[in-house]
Amino acid sequence: MEPFYLTIALDTPLDRLFDYRWLAVADEPRPEVGQIALVPFGRQEIAGLIVAVNRSTEVPADKIKDVLAVRQQCPALSNQWIDLCRFAADYYQRPLGEVAIPALPKNLRALKPVSLDRNLKKLTKLKLDAAPEVLQEKQLNAEQHAAVEQIVGQPGFAAFLLHGVTGSGKTEVYLQATAKILARDNTSQVLILVPEINLTPQLEANIRQRFAGIQISTLHSGMAEGERLLHWLAAHTGQARIILGTRLAILSSLPHLQMIVIDEEHDPSYKQQEGLRYSARDLAVWRAHQLAIPVVLGSATPSLETWQHSKAGRYRKLELRERAVKDAVLPVVKIINTEREKPSEGLTQRLVAAIRQRLEKGEQSLLFLNRRGYAPVLHCDSCGWISNCTRCTAHMVLHKPDKKLRCHHCGLEQRITRACPTCGNIDLQPLGRGTQRLEEGLHSVFPDARIFRIDADSTRLKGSAEAAFDTVHRGEVDILIGTQMVAKGHDFKNLTLVAALNPDSALFSQDFRASERLFAQLMQVAGRAGRAAQKEGGNASEVLIQTRYPDHPLYHALMAHDYHRFADDLLEERQQAAMPPFIYQALLRAEARELETAIAFLQEAAHCTMHHGITINDPIPMTMTRVHNMDRAQLLVESTSRPALQVFLKEWISTLRAMKTRVKWGVEIDPVDI
Ligand code: ADP
Ligand code: ZN
Ligand code: ZN
Repeated sequence: MEPFYLTIALDTPLDRLFDYRWLAVADEPRPEVGQIALVPFGRQEIAGLIVAVNRSTEVPADKIKDVLAVRQQCPALSNQWIDLCRFAADYYQRPLGEVAIPALPKNLRALKPVSLDRNLKKLTKLKLDAAPEVLQEKQLNAEQHAAVEQIVGQPGFAAFLLHGVTGSGKTEVYLQATAKILARDNTSQVLILVPEINLTPQLEANIRQRFAGIQISTLHSGMAEGERLLHWLAAHTGQARIILGTRLAILSSLPHLQMIVIDEEHDPSYKQQEGLRYSARDLAVWRAHQLAIPVVLGSATPSLETWQHSKAGRYRKLELRERAVKDAVLPVVKIINTEREKPSEGLTQRLVAAIRQRLEKGEQSLLFLNRRGYAPVLHCDSCGWISNCTRCTAHMVLHKPDKKLRCHHCGLEQRITRACPTCGNIDLQPLGRGTQRLEEGLHSVFPDARIFRIDADSTRLKGSAEAAFDTVHRGEVDILIGTQMVAKGHDFKNLTLVAALNPDSALFSQDFRASERLFAQLMQVAGRAGRAAQKEGGNASEVLIQTRYPDHPLYHALMAHDYHRFADDLLEERQQAAMPPFIYQALLRAEARELETAIAFLQEAAHCTMHHGITINDPIPMTMTRVHNMDRAQLLVESTSRPALQVFLKEWISTLRAMKTRVKWGVEIDPVDI
């Protein structure tokens, strides 16, 4: 019998596909596009994805190798899914295999096939996770109702920006739109993306209750491989109707996908920051377009990219202007000038008084300080020594409970030195304040209060973040201290005071996106206050910002809860300065032992190709130049035309690949950290 030739995408940096020969053994079925095949590659055997099945090949007969096996157990991936990977590969300038293969569960690519039959049987078990009792659907208010109707109203592609103030009931809109989509037939699937599942356990619980009896898959990076395979298969086989996941779920196989929701669409975690640096939000919009289905981007503080799309009419804007709970109102935002009212232990007298009022009424307070550890640096007064990391351009952070100095960038740890390593002075001083120090100070001011800290250090163990949030929800906490982990999505019912302790540093950052992020973060954290109606005799909800810059426009916009004005002003600035979203960018990053080597590579790269309509900036060291003993530099490339940039990048990258260099380099499209 004539052989077939399989074109296979492999997870290698080589930007090409590979042909292999397949000879039928006994009555083995003919391979199909979308199946996984095991092939020899160099001295290894690896799994790849079949993207074409042909009768001929250009590879000479004495060079072609045979396929070792084709996995028959798993239903083939669809052409649509392969097209999604192909788009991502093209757009982010990667080989197809580097996108498609890592998107599959490891167990599916393992050399020894796992028993999929057994796993498929286990799938029915997922159903039992669902809570038995059903939570009634809420009666939607007029704006919510209009939003749901628009989203599910017409067939075809539409991108919606659901712009709703914090607590306006965006979740209810997602869930009721989901219910309507699922009710259409027995197969349709809905993908709901969230920034981080562990930080919003309430949403998952809500969905499981609301959709009891419907199979729900969760997909996120914290899952064990076996569990991940199970949930991925449930989605791939169409058994799971709702898929709740983090950014990686955007590349899952969903044969009957009918709607995509992206909650908190502005959140930076939708951008993958290593390997394939993709934006799950942007891929979601492409995927919805490909499938001609609706995509909903929800936020109280949309990203400027999304805001601009909605202003230009490409996304349809749905507004929720008020809080959904009856009589719940947005908190009053007040500014405390710390130049005039000096804080002690990080707390101004006004803030201490406000916390005391909450304690008296049995209400909760949230203190937001986006800096973990005890103090950001340890310092010697007599000789000026400071705790620098020996491997990075960064300070070692003091972690008092475990008596360590720790670098947050490379992970280097040291025991706290008793004496100054330079002059022997034994009176070393912590400088600045992190969450641990704030906690210590609060205990001395409020010895009887139940004080609780939530940050990456206090929730290191698996499951501990969920447990920590439960503790707050159960009311066992009076004062909650937290980093940005506590800002997201939580519906704390008894919280009436939020304070931001030291938000100023982002105001003067070199990163032009810093103020956009700070505003979003403060809006979000402020939005945790006053989510229920004011109790009789209770405190009105209030947000206090301790700042040295009380007149900064960002804080004024915050006081007025005026996202529109703030976003419009920023957009105007960006337009005048020719910055995103009015210009398209790519970043070439290089790292080497010596900075000069990295810069020299970038300089060569800047001159190695012709370009029209492309601006190539000068190479510069990255703000944090050294991390883990590697020096890093970058080269920014810009264009007003996305297609022109794409064409240029393709050519440029293939030239770079051909350059012989020891420098580690990579290109990022639409970078967010520059
Ligand atoms: P958002 O995601 O917009 O910040 P949530 O979806 O968390 O807001 O909703 C805030 C609160 O409002 C929740 O307690 C939710 O149960 C409640 N809620 C939402 N919609 C309604 C409604 N139509 N009627 C009453 N309460 C509602
Ligand atoms: Zn010293
Ligand atoms: Zn370091």
